[in-house]
Amino acid sequence: MFRNTAIAAMVLAIGAMCITGCSSANKDGSQPSTTAEKNYETSGNSEKFSIVCTIFPEYDWVREIMGSHAKDADITYLLDSGTDLHNFQPTAEDILKISSCDLFIHVGGESDKWVSDALNGAVNKDMQTLSLMAILGDSAKEEEIKDGMEAEEEHDGEEEEEEIEYDEHVWLSLKNSKLICEEIEKAIAKTDPENAPDYGSNLADYAARLDELDRKFASIAGSANNKVLIFGDRFPFRYFVDDYDIDYYAAFAGCSAESEASFKTVSFLSDKLSELNCDTIFTIEKSDKSVAEAVIANSKKKDCSIVELDSIQSVSSADAASGVTYLSLMEQNYNVLAEYFN
Ligand SMILES: [Zn+2]
Repeated sequence: MFRNTAIAAMVLAIGAMCITGCSSANKDGSQPSTTAEKNYETSGNSEKFSIVCTIFPEYDWVREIMGSHAKDADITYLLDSGTDLHNFQPTAEDILKISSCDLFIHVGGESDKWVSDALNGAVNKDMQTLSLMAILGDSAKEEEIKDGMEAEEEHDGEEEEEEIEYDEHVWLSLKNSKLICEEIEKAIAKTDPENAPDYGSNLADYAARLDELDRKFASIAGSANNKVLIFGDRFPFRYFVDDYDIDYYAAFAGCSAESEASFKTVSFLSDKLSELNCDTIFTIEKSDKSVAEAVIANSKKKDCSIVELDSIQSVSSADAASGVTYLSLMEQNYNVLAEYFN
């Protein structure tokens, strides 16, 4: 509650700052002196339109669809420090950037509660917003609690309502990604109709690459003997595994804040490892591997190896600049699974 009020106050303060800043710049015709004012001042009728994306896949899709026109736009990747979306809180500068942009793309799930306050202060009334969860509509999936999973700790007070929690990791399905890219293309083409044919053809090329990788995943999963993944970690891949009828067991659901697994959870996964005769246990990127190691130690499969699937939640701006793409990470996941299913 306090957080929301604080954001609202910040938006108001920034709004007021901007209005005074810009009107004075307009009056005497001089260049605004700070970056913040400059951004606001140019947002009205500039040729360089501004797109703000929260997570890396959104940012990368915008780059792909804009192609050579990306250099003519101001594209912001908000979560570029590697903070995952569940823990992100915007800075005053972030709010300002969102408030004046032409297109704002966000996930739209439980972790985006800050977004409505940020948008309330929007200076650009023509702004388009895209929510990935809204694009998926009824195909958004609830977080799944599987056998053996560590339950999230109960909140204080037993009268807490049982709220449905939707899995926010929609980008891990290539089919979802294609659908989302189509909506991003429409929004960009609407903002910049002059270059719409280029955006259309970039989308067609990119969608074909998504389809191709989707077919490759379907093919390795289709011919696998053991279609079960055991995760000694959190499990954000529900949208992904559902696309290929892959089953899984994991220590924690989605992006649960829990990181300590009970003995019960560890021994459940250890038994599964032995029962299914798995020689591989999975973690997500940047895992400390402690749960996976405990599962192996408790199992009869001491030579089991720990392998990583990237959930594309901790890509830094340096990674993004060095050529990492949504497809390169999904292809890396493909290589890992091709080995596992082989
Ligand atoms: Zn997550």
